[in-house]
Amino acid sequence: MTNNLIEVKNLKKYYQVQKGFIETLLARKIDFIKAVDKVSFNIRKGEVFGLAGESGSGKTTTGRLILGLTEPTEGKIFFDGREVLITSPRVSKQLGIEMVYQNFALCPNLDVPSNLFLGREITTRSFFSFLRKRKMEKEAVEVLHRLKIDIKNPRIYIDRLSGGQQQAVAIGKAVSFYPKLVIMDEPTANLALVEIDKVLELTLRLKQHDISIIFISHRLDDVFTVSDRIFVLKHGRKVDVKEKAKTNKDEVIRLMFM
Ligand code: ADP
Ligand code: MG
Repeated sequence: MTNNLIEVKNLKKYYQVQKGFIETLLARKIDFIKAVDKVSFNIRKGEVFGLAGESGSGKTTTGRLILGLTEPTEGKIFFDGREVLITSPRVSKQLGIEMVYQNFALCPNLDVPSNLFLGREITTRSFFSFLRKRKMEKEAVEVLHRLKIDIKNPRIYIDRLSGGQQQAVAIGKAVSFYPKLVIMDEPTANLALVEIDKVLELTLRLKQHDISIIFISHRLDDVFTVSDRIFVLKHGRKVDVKEKAKTNKDEVIRLMFM
């Protein structure tokens, strides 16, 4: 029995550089941007795996490949011990993979329960839709409670919440699908400083629920707060992977830029 939730082997995403017709004829070859270049890693169950690297190093593309938002050029993914072909976000959702984005990706003019259950409204046989609404609200409150997310009134519209609260709802939404892996792409990038800590605390709480996390951030402080291991990317390639306890920010910065 392996303790790995996900194993990524030789993952590649090359984009063809767009050129004019004449230019292509003259160059006689096609150039590629190697967004992700032969990247391999394993993530253990319940582990927070930090992805560090400067802008353009391939962090987001790595996340998108695992979520099925981008089709890989090459590479294999093993999930829960078997090889999987993640051809769309629907496939990754079925496997138990969720993504959290920097812009929260919620509907601003809907309340918390409606956002949590968007696209999968609880259906009952009852003619009374208010019963359904009440059930959604009850479950939403349970999700918030389970994750200790402090939102007094879940009927509030999302756009009335602070950025940190909105991100908490987005994370709550991901967790309400009972995922095994949550990919967070710059989840603190759009937050006020005072709110960042709360989102990081919440991230660590997911770990207690045995959820593995890929934590993508250019904010090294955040990566160091939450990660068990830190994977450093540069120009789409793996530079190194370090146990947090055995490295420090200076070393990771050196790895990012050397
Ligand atoms: P990061 O998240 O680390 O900032 P990205 O994964 O977004 O990096 O991008 C890695 C590289 O791939 C960059 O050079 C970027 O310009 C390129 N890239 C990303 N998406 C596309 C795309 N759809 N088409 C062409 N190039 C892309
Ligand atoms: Mg990015």
